[in-house]
Amino acid sequence: MYVRGVGPKVAEMLTAKGILTAEDLLYHLPFRYEDRQNPRSLDEIKAGEMASIIAEVRGSALLRTRRAPIFELTVGQGRFALKCLWFNGTYLNGKFHAGQTIAVYGKVEPSRSSSNLKMIQPQFELLPDDSDDAETRLLEVGRITPVYESLGGSRLASRWQRKTIFNLLESVRGAVPECLPREMLARLELAERESALREVHFPREGTTAVQLQSCATAAHRRLIFEELFFLELGLELKRRRMKERAGIAFATTDNVREAIREVLPFHPTNAQKRALGEIVGDMRQPSPMRRLLQGDVGSGKTIVALQAMIIAMENGYQAALMAPTEILATQHFLAARKLLERSSRKPRIVLLTGSLDEDRKRHTRRQINSGEAQLIIGTHALIEEKVEFARLGLVVVDEQHRFGVLQRFRLMKKPNQAEPDVLVMTATPIPRTLALTLYGDLDVSILDELPPGRTPIVTRRVRDDESGKVWEFVRKQVKQGRQAYVVYPVIEGTSDDQPELDFSQDDAEVGKGLGSQAADGNAETAKRTRQGKKAGLLFPKESIEANAAAKSGLKSAVEMHQKLRAGPLEGLRVGLLHGRLSADEKEVIMRRFQRGEIDVLVATTVIEVGVDVPNATVMVVEHAERFGLAQLHQLRGRVGRGTAKSYCILMTGPRISPLGEERLNAMVTTQDGFALAELDLSIRGPGEFFGTRQAGLPDFRVANLVRDRQLLELAKAEAARFANARITDGALPSAVTEAERARVWARLKEAWQRRYGLVEAG
Ligand code: ADP
Ligand code: MG
Repeated sequence: MYVRGVGPKVAEMLTAKGILTAEDLLYHLPFRYEDRQNPRSLDEIKAGEMASIIAEVRGSALLRTRRAPIFELTVGQGRFALKCLWFNGTYLNGKFHAGQTIAVYGKVEPSRSSSNLKMIQPQFELLPDDSDDAETRLLEVGRITPVYESLGGSRLASRWQRKTIFNLLESVRGAVPECLPREMLARLELAERESALREVHFPREGTTAVQLQSCATAAHRRLIFEELFFLELGLELKRRRMKERAGIAFATTDNVREAIREVLPFHPTNAQKRALGEIVGDMRQPSPMRRLLQGDVGSGKTIVALQAMIIAMENGYQAALMAPTEILATQHFLAARKLLERSSRKPRIVLLTGSLDEDRKRHTRRQINSGEAQLIIGTHALIEEKVEFARLGLVVVDEQHRFGVLQRFRLMKKPNQAEPDVLVMTATPIPRTLALTLYGDLDVSILDELPPGRTPIVTRRVRDDESGKVWEFVRKQVKQGRQAYVVYPVIEGTSDDQPELDFSQDDAEVGKGLGSQAADGNAETAKRTRQGKKAGLLFPKESIEANAAAKSGLKSAVEMHQKLRAGPLEGLRVGLLHGRLSADEKEVIMRRFQRGEIDVLVATTVIEVGVDVPNATVMVVEHAERFGLAQLHQLRGRVGRGTAKSYCILMTGPRISPLGEERLNAMVTTQDGFALAELDLSIRGPGEFFGTRQAGLPDFRVANLVRDRQLLELAKAEAARFANARITDGALPSAVTEAERARVWARLKEAWQRRYGLVEAG
């Protein structure tokens, strides 16, 4: 379609930004709005109020001060003037000429030196010279003005977008197809698509800037719902398609129940009972199970999985458990063997990992292939070593293997056999809304209760300058026969073991963005500012400087391993573990720690992954303010696994960003992983929470999973309702027409092909 203002050159620039169609452009929403409805005149404004002012540029200067260069712009109306100041404003130098018309928006401040008022870091935009022309009046002033992230340099900045989108909306007036059924719009009181699109760009009179800024207008709601509805509808269909495939209907007879009772060493928690009930419900169905078992470290997932595996075995099938590392696989193998010793069935359990010698591997493969092995525990080797299962019924797999692996498990069954059930386990608590989306093609069970009899872990914050006491405490614990971890954010020097760990960096980035927020047309700035807004992190400059200072004095694992051994922990057996060691070296160190041959393990976050050393009672984290909440929580989960009282000591430098404070306080206050995950999500925003898009989280155009939880739940329910109506045609709400249905499906296909590369669960 031809869009006014978009020639081949511009089209190319837009394509680079992922804008391929006119529709894409319409869904490129303003990231903020400027209230220029009532521009004020300079003679009436007072210090302390927020004001929007349209004035003439009079002059500018770059003032070199000792702290930072300040860019000063003087604007005026008649004999009144206003000074606008930007710290670190060098980038603004040369951008203004006397006589230009400018709109500024910000807080009016008193000025010490003269009777003039001033604004500090106001938002601003230069207006076209002939401010009197009709289009300008329509789009730029006297209204709530949309501000866009630039789509390419200063050329495709806000003003270009305003004009182009305005013209586009005019040219398609009355012709934007509605993609949701009327009946749904009416029932949910949602705006129509075209008017919603029009109003998010050019809000109708009476809309408040506050509503717009928080995306709470009816127009925003409609577009958010639309986006979430098509996501959820796609996920719903995926789940349904899975249910149409041929799986195994396991029986749960008295025999099976007895087999479980024989080995179960304790009363399951209510959460365990509920989760197992859900799993058993799936397993009895003739369709393949695809379920996620979510539960904090120590919540007892393993035992639940083991019960499911017993059900499979009692039904004459094999069960496989795949762990992310050899050490964990071995741990599971030993635990399962111990537990199943009590079984009168004496199932055959085998371990298959990459490091076994060839003969052993061959032998094990043969046992698996003949069906002699009933419970198979292993690593990736289960896939890599071309294992053929005789009769695979259930696969339990660690979350880390999820992507890509589940597909391949299908190849491991014999061609004429039914599909095995799959249970994915994760120890990373994920807030429900995110789980619904990230694992949207799986059903979810949650263990939100710890088994009884745990002593809570004592968590304390300690400042660096009191480290002497910490090492003293560690020595005392070791003397009592206990072991300790000491964790650092970097391996050596200032090179990061895991760059994403460096949150104080993020804080600084956000701060920077804020400082130059007004530079409309600067895509980078706009983006940073927006990300900052999304995550709700607005920081004073002090914290940024504090972080910069903190960064230079970063302690590293390698360096501290030396220092501790030679100093405060002299005489103890101190080991070192980090990501630059080979897998074999890591295994060796971890084994020695497990056997108690190392007292104190100095490490980076590589120890995060579920290693069980019940005798370790102390977790010391240095530079704790630099770790994310999820990470701190996982680290703390390494202790408190035995009966002895355990401690988590969070050491920090003297200066901590407000965000760091919030994280540390949360750690001290609660041990509930789900509560911490919720908090983490609300602090960091969903993108940051998972780090990247590869994690499977779609990149939304309008929706935000933190802000829009309720709409997500609604969209999910509506998606199920709509899909139901499709399957049983008779139940189709009479108001939904054939044509509307067709449009929903067409739109769904488009949305999924273009936008959500969600990973198939196989
Ligand atoms: P997860 O795999 O979720 O981290 P585990 O399954 O390893 O947790 O369980 C942690 C510890 O709690 C194990 O030692 C396990 O034997 C024990 N445990 C699990 N369920 C119960 C229960 N219902 N009552 C008592 N102890 C339990
Ligand atoms: Mg089944």
